[in-house]
Amino acid sequence: PRNFSAGPAQMPEDVLLSAQAEFMDFAGTGMSVLETSHRSAAYRRVIDAAEASLREVMGIPDSYGVLFLQGGATLEFAGIPMNLMRRGRAGHIVSGHFAKVAAEEAARYGSAEILATSEPTGFDRIPDLPAPEAFAGMDYGYICQNNTIYGTMFHGLPDCGGTPLVADVSSCFLSFPLDVTDYGLLFAGAQKNAGPSGVCVLVVDRSLVEAGPALGVCPTYLDYSAQLAKGSMLNTPNTFGIYLCGKVFDWVRGTGGLEAMGERNAEKAALLYGAVDRSDLYRGCAVPSSRSVANVTFRLPTPELEREFVDRAAGQGLVGLAGHRLVGGIRASIYNAVGIDAVRDLVAFMESFELSVTG
Ligand code: PLP
Repeated sequence: PRNFSAGPAQMPEDVLLSAQAEFMDFAGTGMSVLETSHRSAAYRRVIDAAEASLREVMGIPDSYGVLFLQGGATLEFAGIPMNLMRRGRAGHIVSGHFAKVAAEEAARYGSAEILATSEPTGFDRIPDLPAPEAFAGMDYGYICQNNTIYGTMFHGLPDCGGTPLVADVSSCFLSFPLDVTDYGLLFAGAQKNAGPSGVCVLVVDRSLVEAGPALGVCPTYLDYSAQLAKGSMLNTPNTFGIYLCGKVFDWVRGTGGLEAMGERNAEKAALLYGAVDRSDLYRGCAVPSSRSVANVTFRLPTPELEREFVDRAAGQGLVGLAGHRLVGGIRASIYNAVGIDAVRDLVAFMESFELSVTG
């Protein structure tokens, strides 16, 4: 099938084949990686190589730490304030559901001030960015860079006036080139562009962590300082998940890195938005200047037609197209592992579906 699911999402076929080939005999041990101690030299090489590969792909400088944590992106909605809200204030831009949930979670640990929101227009856009002065006196500014449910994306980062920027990049991770030093911290649930669910990849400016201790309520597991000191091995990590993430990072590197990935993703998105814009049946959800390269959302005139679209698409092997349950409609997630051929197939289906219902 052509898998357009928002996550867990399609994995690169080469990664799955490679993992399958060594599933029963990992690194010549005669054992599966699932059976291998996280303290073994063989596994140490896996996690070290995964980190090194990610550092190379993203150009992460030594002054930033890399963590592989559990609990998905959601646990870091709490981990971030518990580590960084030392003055008790964060400035949140609320551009969608996960941005809102993150602000609500942060508000349990301090003052999560909403500096901008696009909720009044149904999260159909990235809100106008606040002035840099709005972030004065705050521990950090917070954004969700790509809004998976609504299909919107920041096309430029807010200027936080020297206050560190924290970004949830779950659904645009490794999707285009970025400058890590623009961020104080970025994090991603792995199940869209990096690997299996449960793993959260977190990249943090070490100086932010070293600037002071985590809040007293912070569990040791979530204490970034403790995790960095232990190389993400404070407890038994998600060994298999990290192993797969490493293979995905290698795959990204082998297919030309973020530059090439960004070009392919832009081409895929342009094809799909072109089909939406040409049509009289489909109506894009996001305002064009806020459109996501990763999640393309659109509607049909009625929920009944939307259901028919999803069902008939599935009948042709195009799966995972139903919009998020909060909003309905159609959502095609075209993450890194979704090839341009899959997008072409979807566009062809959209055209034939439109013809069949409009005559
Ligand atoms: N942030 C964004 C942008 C997401 O799309 C998601 C999940 O889809 C999450 C956070 C939550 O991630 P997790 O389920 O890994 O906690």
